[in-house]
Amino acid sequence: MTRRVSRPIRIGRVTVGGDTPVVVQSMTKTDTRDVSSTIKQIEQLRDCGCEIVRVAVPDKEAAENISVIKKSVSLPLIADIHFDYRLALAALEAGVDGLRLNPGNIRDKEQIAKVVAAAKEREIPIRVGVNAGSLPTNFELDAPLSERMVNVALKQIKLLESLDFNLIKVSLKAFDVPTTIQAYQLIADKIPYPLHLGITEAGLPQYGAIRSAVGIGILLYQGIGDTIRVSLTAHPCEEVFVAYEILKSLGLRQRGPTLVSCPSCGRAEVDIIALAEAVDEYLKKITKPTKVAVMGCIVNGPGEARDSDVGIAGGKGKGIIFRKGEIVKTVTEENLVEALMAEIDSFSLAREG
Ligand code: SF4
Repeated sequence: MTRRVSRPIRIGRVTVGGDTPVVVQSMTKTDTRDVSSTIKQIEQLRDCGCEIVRVAVPDKEAAENISVIKKSVSLPLIADIHFDYRLALAALEAGVDGLRLNPGNIRDKEQIAKVVAAAKEREIPIRVGVNAGSLPTNFELDAPLSERMVNVALKQIKLLESLDFNLIKVSLKAFDVPTTIQAYQLIADKIPYPLHLGITEAGLPQYGAIRSAVGIGILLYQGIGDTIRVSLTAHPCEEVFVAYEILKSLGLRQRGPTLVSCPSCGRAEVDIIALAEAVDEYLKKITKPTKVAVMGCIVNGPGEARDSDVGIAGGKGKGIIFRKGEIVKTVTEENLVEALMAEIDSFSLAREG
């Protein structure tokens, strides 16, 4: 996998682009005018691994609150601006670390120039955030949607460049996965700027996680993408969890545990589904990268279990526990969960010590 090398930018203390690891972003779902709820959710996001957080800025009060919020949180903040350029100016004044402007709904060149001048003065990056649902209504209507999205972005980028501004990041989000992939592929060779990936309005977690994994995963595998946000109809920490699972599955980031469990079949000699669910629950308290295997029988079991930090391979009414390829012990089925958990704890302790 060869990554497209983009021109790095700094969002607060986080670098996006260049050869830095793909950054995980999310967005608060609180009303930004409600400062304490927003701070609380940003703290939850920090704890679940989010690295940059975007907040909605629907009005002046929300924009001004950014200065208060920023004093209480450590994550870099991006202000999401639509329709009113003055909200972008107010967010910059309040000390925001990045702006997202939607070129579909702030189009006045003079207004954009004012925002760019204020961002440039403070060295604050701007994301040109194109969304398929809010393209200018009179723009290249005969062109395919992906091309229209790219051309809207390029037009806005040209405007920013003409104002001698290049702290730019770009996103081209649609609900339709092929459209999104085509749009990012089209723009990747045309600009040097970092790309923020996402499938917009992807839905409830059981659907949105899959749509996002397919769309974002294909692009990342092609080396495209410097930062990602998974958009789910759920608490934002679920977005962060799915984002890391996508990155982990491609070997781009490591975070927390990875559970390898067989699907179970007629050969399983232990209740593998119940066992995997119990282990998954237990692993939620583990924060360091740890690979745990739960396998139902000896066909693939010992091989996968040996390849993991800690693993179990089921046998008739019993299971063999492995640690880093070595058999630790054999336990009866009723003691499997407890014994595996104890082994995970012992592995974690030994690694820390
Ligand atoms: Fe079936 Fe064994 Fe494979 Fe699990 S490891 S799916 S029980 S053959």
